[in-house]
Amino acid sequence: MVKPKTEEEIELLRENAILVSKTLAEVGKVVAPGVTTKRLNEVAETFIRDNGAIPNFLGYEGFPAALCLSVNDVVVHGFPSDYVLKEGDIVSVDCGTLYKGYNGDSAYTFPVGEVDAETRKLLDVTKASLYKGIEKAVDGNRTGDIGHAVQTYAESFGFSVVRELEGHGLGKDMHEDPGVPNYGRAGHGARLVDGMTICIEPMINAGTRGVYLARNGWAVHTADHKKSAHFELTVVVRKGKAEQLSTYDFIENVQ
Ligand code: MG
Ligand code: MG
Repeated sequence: MVKPKTEEEIELLRENAILVSKTLAEVGKVVAPGVTTKRLNEVAETFIRDNGAIPNFLGYEGFPAALCLSVNDVVVHGFPSDYVLKEGDIVSVDCGTLYKGYNGDSAYTFPVGEVDAETRKLLDVTKASLYKGIEKAVDGNRTGDIGHAVQTYAESFGFSVVRELEGHGLGKDMHEDPGVPNYGRAGHGARLVDGMTICIEPMINAGTRGVYLARNGWAVHTADHKKSAHFELTVVVRKGKAEQLSTYDFIENVQ
């Protein structure tokens, strides 16, 4: 049984969630053709540290950077590099903070310049599938209700759901119980209780759902090398309606 957070803990998680949300917006301001993914990482790390927090991904199980930056067919866990973003790419930016002993963790996939219609649809559907999942993050439901909602929505557009990776609880540790899969059966899985804080993070592929791990042991690629999108928000399970801690409002105000 997962212990719900106290209201004091939720406030600390909220501070982290807001900082992560603002960091994603700072990164979004510089995403453009001609920019390296290394530059995006520098922008985020500087912003996080200027706000008195630590980038919690850096050094996590040996991860070498502040951000996971995953371009096109990379689903998650890409390293920042000298790769120069080009018109029509997409880049998933996954960001985390450690502040006052608690963690933040959210992600957004940005289009680079103009993207084709199919790619735009992949981004829109993946983000919308996250909100479908959030609608189910209410007291008395189960994790399978979230996964089922995400999967049903994404698959109705002909996209596929990555199953090897999932959302998670968030608190003093970046990955806590319960696991929150993006697929599943309604009414199954761990029970959701008022005060639980979870990250919901659909990873949706344009093509087949299969993935493989790159030789560096980190980057997860789509098996067919078609694009993949990733959106992640942190929410508090509540009675009747989930409470969002992180938000895309800062991003949507700068774009
Ligand atoms: Mg994340
Ligand atoms: Mg996460």
